[in-house]
Amino acid sequence: MFNLSRYFSTVSFILIVLAAGVFGPLYRQLSQQQIGSLAESRNVAMAHLFEEALRQPLEQLLVASLGRDAESLRQSAEVAALRERLAALTRNTALVQLRLYNRLGVVVFATDSAQIGETGSSGPDFRAALAGTIGSKLQRHVPVVTFGGEPAKPHALISHVPVVDRQGAVEGVFELYQDVTPFMQQLQRSERWVTAGVFAVFAVLFLMQYLVVRRAQGVLTEQERNLKAVRDTLELQVEARTEELKRTNLQLQDEIGERRQAESKLNYLACHDPLTGLANRRYFIERLGARLGETGDGQQQLAVLFIDLDQFKQVNDSLGHGVGDELLISVTARLTEQLHLVDMLARLGGDEFICLMEQVRNEDEVAIVAGEIVDTFAQPFRLGDHELFLSASVGISMFPGDGATVVELMRNADTAMYRAKAIGRGEFCFYAPEMTRDAQERIRVENLLRRALDRQEFIVYLQPQVDTASGRLVGAEALLRWRSAELGLVLPNLFIPLAEDSGVIVPLGAWVLRETCCQVRRWDESGFALPMVSVNVSVRQLERPEFADMLRAILKETGMNPARLKLELTESVLMGIGNPRGELQRLRALGVSLALDDFGTGYSSLNYLRQLPVQQLKIDRSFITGIGHNGGDEAIIRTVMQLAASLGFEVVAEGVETPEQADFLATLGCQQLQGELHGAAMAPAEFRSRWGEHA
Ligand code: C2E
Ligand code: CA
Ligand code: CA
Repeated sequence: MFNLSRYFSTVSFILIVLAAGVFGPLYRQLSQQQIGSLAESRNVAMAHLFEEALRQPLEQLLVASLGRDAESLRQSAEVAALRERLAALTRNTALVQLRLYNRLGVVVFATDSAQIGETGSSGPDFRAALAGTIGSKLQRHVPVVTFGGEPAKPHALISHVPVVDRQGAVEGVFELYQDVTPFMQQLQRSERWVTAGVFAVFAVLFLMQYLVVRRAQGVLTEQERNLKAVRDTLELQVEARTEELKRTNLQLQDEIGERRQAESKLNYLACHDPLTGLANRRYFIERLGARLGETGDGQQQLAVLFIDLDQFKQVNDSLGHGVGDELLISVTARLTEQLHLVDMLARLGGDEFICLMEQVRNEDEVAIVAGEIVDTFAQPFRLGDHELFLSASVGISMFPGDGATVVELMRNADTAMYRAKAIGRGEFCFYAPEMTRDAQERIRVENLLRRALDRQEFIVYLQPQVDTASGRLVGAEALLRWRSAELGLVLPNLFIPLAEDSGVIVPLGAWVLRETCCQVRRWDESGFALPMVSVNVSVRQLERPEFADMLRAILKETGMNPARLKLELTESVLMGIGNPRGELQRLRALGVSLALDDFGTGYSSLNYLRQLPVQQLKIDRSFITGIGHNGGDEAIIRTVMQLAASLGFEVVAEGVETPEQADFLATLGCQQLQGELHGAAMAPAEFRSRWGEHA
């Protein structure tokens, strides 16, 4: 790096030396000139003094010198007199030697008498003086003989001054030696001081500048060091970053690999149902969409088969989700094993599956596959200890006949499936446009249903329940009827599911409870005491946490004795709520009794039912209709009766239509009968007039 201090010291040193070399001699010369001119004017003044004071002896001597020999001149009285006068005049002056030359250059008088008569001077100073010009020169260590006679060697200024007569003519020349030793010594001293002073000033200047420069150098060095440090750090960082980038690159490649794997896994997950491994809804929609795009010309036929398991919800509710999942896996296994003509089987969710058949020639082909699907469920499924009988309903839509888009085809297959379910379990059904009209009708009915409560279109019918042995009225079941201004009389099998789906069942169910209690209280007041009344309760009502409070409020409000109120709950209602035992106990605590409706159609084990605080079982109508011609149904009724007896449940048979059925039930010990044999559900007024007297 550029070393500022070194360059500065060298250059300044040279400059100082140069300055000293120039200024030193200049100063000396100037000083000497000053001394010279000072001393010269003194010599001239001295010479004029001599001329004035000693004119006569001087002139006489100059005249006498001509033609006289040196010796006689030395001995002459003029010389002796002059010497005396001059010695007096020059006492205590700096004049140390004097010589007087005549025009011929012969010394006619000298401080040192021995020099008289010498023909010494013919030099330029002498000749200049003869011409009238005064000249001086400074000489060192000049050997002189002073007026006292003693020799000396002073620094002297030697001046040649012309001696002129009264007419102004030059008669001779004075050579005056003035001792300038003290001046010269002083000069030397001051020279030394000046040199020392200059040197000191320069030295101080130099030092100060040197310090400034050194500081600057320090700053520069510091900055350079910093820069270097920064550069080094940067280099290290660059190196580290390069390394890191290399590593990251490797990592990235690893990650890309991993990500690819994860992506393909995600892709798989995105397209497949994790439980069964079948394609999922999304994948099915994609595939169907793609096929529709390909067969845009409408030449190719496609079929979409929508499959729904009929009793899956009950299995799931009663046996738990674990068994439900296992069942779905078994169903999937069986379907994939048996269906060969299907191009894609997917699970839409829950218990809904869907199939795609491509390149279909006619409906018969599709009907064969649909039949195969239904037959798949002919054999029961064995899961651990359970043997489960299932059936499936299949709805079919065809492309291009039943829709041009994925949405239309799937919706229409779904609609057809609902129709299949409505026909009965284990059926398949091709879509027909009127089904959509039915679905639209459903929506219309739902809207009417929402308004029906406000428009007071509901009425609670009552169906008598009689004692099997005596035929006396023991109670009645409240059964809801809808007298719609638009639709006429609507039966509950049609609107209760709609009310449940839409949530209308909650206020509607509360209304039924209150209305039934009010009816019983009104009869009480009119003197007709109905011993017991049963009200059906839906799962949507029971799952509400406020249900028990609401019931208590109704009982209080109407003054109904809770011992005369029975709630009818189906098994599926019990399975649909979180803690059935606790919930039922809360209801029991209010004083009401509980009946298990539709008994025999569910999957609950009797063991489980024993733990529930239920007092009555209602044998489902489907078993009663079998009496007299279906041994299986009769066997089931017998078993139920035995178990109920051993567990202490009261049994009611519903849907009793014939005396044979009544007899059969009576012999088995069934306590109560309900059915058209004793009376269908009827309006309260009719009920009153029919049963009023019997009470
Ligand atoms: P459910 O509780 O099983 O009611 C018995 C059904 O069987 C009633 O049909 C009744 O009229 C009918 N039935 C009784 N005896 C006979 C008979 O001898 N022969 C024939 N063929 N049928 C008979 P309904 O009134 O149409 O009610 C159908 C279902 O609607 C009821 O079945 C019940 O589950 C539900 N439901 C009715 N009213 C209400 C209600 O207020 N709330 C709730 N949540 N459900 C209700
Ligand atoms: Ca019932
Ligand atoms: Ca029933």
